[in-house]
Amino acid sequence: MTATPDSAQNGKPLLQVNGLKKYFPVRSGVFSKTSAWVKAVDDVSLQIQASETLGLVGESGCGKTTVGRTILRLMEPTAGEALFEGNNIFHLNAAEMRRARRQMQIIFQDPYSSLNPRMTVGSIVGEPLKIHGLAKGQDLHDQVDHLLTRVGLRPEHHSRYPHEFSGGQRQRVGIARALALRPKFIVCDEAVSALDVSIQAQIINLLKDLQQEFQLAYLFITHDLNVVEYLAHRISVMYLGKIAEVAPTDTLFHDPKHPYTQALLSANPIPDPSRQAERIVLEGDVPSPLNPPSGCRFHTRCPQVMDVCKSTEPPLIQIGPAEYGHQVWCHLYEDVKREV
Ligand code: SF4
Repeated sequence: MTATPDSAQNGKPLLQVNGLKKYFPVRSGVFSKTSAWVKAVDDVSLQIQASETLGLVGESGCGKTTVGRTILRLMEPTAGEALFEGNNIFHLNAAEMRRARRQMQIIFQDPYSSLNPRMTVGSIVGEPLKIHGLAKGQDLHDQVDHLLTRVGLRPEHHSRYPHEFSGGQRQRVGIARALALRPKFIVCDEAVSALDVSIQAQIINLLKDLQQEFQLAYLFITHDLNVVEYLAHRISVMYLGKIAEVAPTDTLFHDPKHPYTQALLSANPIPDPSRQAERIVLEGDVPSPLNPPSGCRFHTRCPQVMDVCKSTEPPLIQIGPAEYGHQVWCHLYEDVKREV
């Protein structure tokens, strides 16, 4: 398990997201009128401390990637706020947002498609430094070499092109580029999902080392529970555009409360016999975010569904003392003290 950073216990969050919504219009007819909305992210709140990794997990299509991209304003939000060091980045104009991006970077799943094939690796990694006017000439060259070395590449890779590298090496290039501006926060969007298992382990360890060295905060978006168990201090579980449960990593894996979390974990192969749980097989597919179920969005698949679940959205329930940081949105725990 990853120890919780001191700042996660005491300090103000580096990033606080409140009530984030991202709806996509569905257009139809000759005039392309909006006829419906896909509610990809619907009222998501989360917080991340400096030097902390928050894992964001869920099945594909649950909205986790949209959360990461909307926080960085690679997509514009429909509603909500994202306070980075206290400033709402959703209110920044283009110039202010450009400055804010120095602190907030992203590492994509597919390093090949995210790297310009016509640019050398040195140009790719150095581009942010040039754009922001932070280095030029020999200084730029030296800084790029330093970044390449820090992520496990060599200075002679400077003049090579992305197609000359393996998948793992390309992801190292992506990490070097994300690090170039010395950010405080990085969204890792399925950053190791496309890699072989042995390469995955190397990249995960690199990300952990860099976190310690640069006090980085990560929002680590993945569908892989084993990866997130190793890397994250806390985990948020998403289902159909909403958060279902959030808890410190160890708590989530040993005492999951939400029936969806329990089902996800039961389907996850683990080498520890003391933690083998009976497999919970969920019936049916994830409903469409175009027309999500009423009440609890999980009620069409939940093995413990009750009448109230079909009509009433579950409230936020605090499990144990607030400082434990274990919250669940489920009617099963209504008799537990509720967070108002
Ligand atoms: Fe299941 Fe009801 Fe809890 Fe939703 S609120 S997870 S349907 S028990």
